[in-house]
Amino acid sequence: MPDSSYRDWPFLADEHRRLKTHLDEWCAGNAVSLEPGGGDLDERCRELVGLLGQAGWLNHAVAATGGLDVRSLCLLREGLAYHSGLADFCFAMQGLGSGPISLFGDPRMQAQWLPGIAAGETVAAFALSEKQAGSDVAAMSTRAERDGDRFVLNGEKTWISNAGVADVYTVFARTGEAPGAGGLSAFVVPADTGGLSVTERIDIIAPHPLGTLRFEDCSVPAAQMLAHPGQGFKVAMATLDVFRTTVAAAALGFARRAYDETLAHVLKRELFGAPLAELQMTQASIAEMALAIDASALLTYRSAWAKDRGQARVTREAAMAKLHATERAQWVIDRAVQLFGGQGVTSGHPAERLYREIRALRIYEGASEVQKVIIARHEYRQFAAD
Ligand SMILES: Cc1cc2nc3c(=O)[nH]c(=O)nc-3n(C[C@H](O)[C@H](O)[C@H](O)COP(=O)(O)OP(=O)(O)OC[C@H]3O[C@@H](n4cnc5c(N)ncnc54)[C@H](O)[C@@H]3O)c2cc1C
Repeated sequence: MPDSSYRDWPFLADEHRRLKTHLDEWCAGNAVSLEPGGGDLDERCRELVGLLGQAGWLNHAVAATGGLDVRSLCLLREGLAYHSGLADFCFAMQGLGSGPISLFGDPRMQAQWLPGIAAGETVAAFALSEKQAGSDVAAMSTRAERDGDRFVLNGEKTWISNAGVADVYTVFARTGEAPGAGGLSAFVVPADTGGLSVTERIDIIAPHPLGTLRFEDCSVPAAQMLAHPGQGFKVAMATLDVFRTTVAAAALGFARRAYDETLAHVLKRELFGAPLAELQMTQASIAEMALAIDASALLTYRSAWAKDRGQARVTREAAMAKLHATERAQWVIDRAVQLFGGQGVTSGHPAERLYREIRALRIYEGASEVQKVIIARHEYRQFAAD
């Protein structure tokens, strides 16, 4: 039976334990819908978003009042990732895409978009990155120029999850109040706005909808700006401050799945006249996998708990959780592939699928190196302040 002792950790409250039990039951009851499937990827994503909405899980991904509960987000992402990378992706993007509206939208904007996103009827996306502005967000060149009571957007965004599937995008553009990060603003842009088009779809190792958006004289009312002019970077970073920890949780879900699959395998696979589990080198791998998973879980739920109990910024905790959980999940899954031998690299095998699914998590929402920079800078500031 998979380890579930972490449910009793003090970072979680009883409502979280109930949520986890309910999610596990739901995943078991919807195993067929969550299975990796072929067919049209966009269609499958829309179906999954609908399914998550009908089940009520997407209510946790949006917050008109009262904020987002990061522990619930983490438990949901961890649990969904355990069963289906694509379901986790669909859940995560509803949250990330609408996060700026949840955190900075006015009541009118929230009423317009959040109910549909929570119901799984409206698909959301988050459009920050550009070809020359991935890790270096401040190098962004997409512009939004004031034209009376409107802003006109011109430029290109790339690696945008849900590009072509989304009904609404949160878009970040340069409005020029200050150089660099101080001159960005955030806008809510419906997908059917004139001048917005999807110019490219990008195929990646673990397929999910990803593409490039072009803005050509794309005019939006000034009322669709989130927060104030020049506060786009703040909007993006505050959103990532919530969702970065949930990337760690998804990595944890992938790692737990790989670990559970591995345990079942090594206990039954006979090698040299005994189960593979009897070999001491296997035991060393199993011990290190278990340790990596527990350490990741501790960092993830510490970060989520800190945010939920009202700590204004959890940048350091979230960076530590994401860095550790994604890097160690990659390592855990690699050990799983190794212990499965030839089966582990066979297309469609769970270890092979997880090996592909985990990779991008070490790059998006801040690559591992960026998380290291964030942690080190925080440590220097803290030390200098003492
Ligand atoms: C699957 C996937 C989904 C994505 N979805 C979205 C989305 O929905 N919305 C969105 O806006 N963006 C999205 N992105 C974009 C993602 O956020 C960027 O890919 C990421 O920020 C890295 O930017 P880059 O690809 O331009 O790499 P670069 O910025 O060119 O960085 C390349 C590498 O350089 C290294 N590096 C970077 N900074 C440092 C540093 N300070 N010190 C040392 N080394 C460093 C890292 O190893 C990094 O991987 C997605 C990306 C992927 C892969």
